[in-house]
Amino acid sequence: MFFKRGFNMFFNLIRFLLFFLVVNLSYGANLTPNSSTNLPVNLSSPGGVRIMLLSDNLNDKISANFYGKTVTIVKNNNKQYALIGLPLKIKIGSHFINVYINNKKRVKKWFKVVYKKYKTQYITIKNKKFVNPGKMDYKKITEDSKAIAVAKKHYDKDVVPNIPFSIPVKGIKTGSFGLRRFFNKQPRSPHGGMDIAAPAGTPIKAPSAGKIIEVGNYFFSGNCVFINHGQGLVSFYAHMSKIDVKVGDVVKQGDIIGQVGKTGRVTGAHLHWSIGLNGTWVDPQLFLKTGD
Ligand SMILES: [Zn+2]
Repeated sequence: MFFKRGFNMFFNLIRFLLFFLVVNLSYGANLTPNSSTNLPVNLSSPGGVRIMLLSDNLNDKISANFYGKTVTIVKNNNKQYALIGLPLKIKIGSHFINVYINNKKRVKKWFKVVYKKYKTQYITIKNKKFVNPGKMDYKKITEDSKAIAVAKKHYDKDVVPNIPFSIPVKGIKTGSFGLRRFFNKQPRSPHGGMDIAAPAGTPIKAPSAGKIIEVGNYFFSGNCVFINHGQGLVSFYAHMSKIDVKVGDVVKQGDIIGQVGKTGRVTGAHLHWSIGLNGTWVDPQLFLKTGD
């Protein structure tokens, strides 16, 4: 009798622990931000966003940098947080940001970056110039990557980011962020954005308010647009069939910026959507509102 009761208690304890484990695991896997805050989802892994509380005083003047790059600071519920964009190539382990509050001495704030597994994707591209470009193409590719690098690290201290974002195109998410990619069996950079498949001509809507800082036609990305959302947060739209904005335009959430297409290195019509934070691509899903 006593043995049976002891066994039951033991069994209940195990069940309780398992329940906790499952709840915590599913919480960790949930990449949708809480819609009542204006913080993205915290993901302290390569390609993620590390959120750090820096002050509980909204009047504190704060600046922070991460490997020399200015970090986004947002205000939320009377507190100030750093949003640190973590590159896909960042080393697993301890890192720090330099924080300056009210121009006082530098304080180092340490955090850990933990491993996250990204899947491998094999893509076959029919037009071989997109896998092994010619000499003339390299000139264009170099110019494009310079323009992309400049737009990606755009920092505007006067604009405050508006989070969460809405999905720019209603479609099927096909290629997810961080995939390790092979084009025609040759290794290439990991996927720095989210791919959303939709018919060519589908309108692309600004996911959040911002200002158009770059419009171009690039070798790999095709027709594309960059939006500055403020404080080092930018978004990028590629392979468009049509662009409906120009540099300097101010957009609200939901404004149409162009249409889905298949320009550049693609296998079919889709939107490639990237989010840049302190000059590095991070997972756009972390910024989306619940259900998007
Ligand atoms: Zn893509």
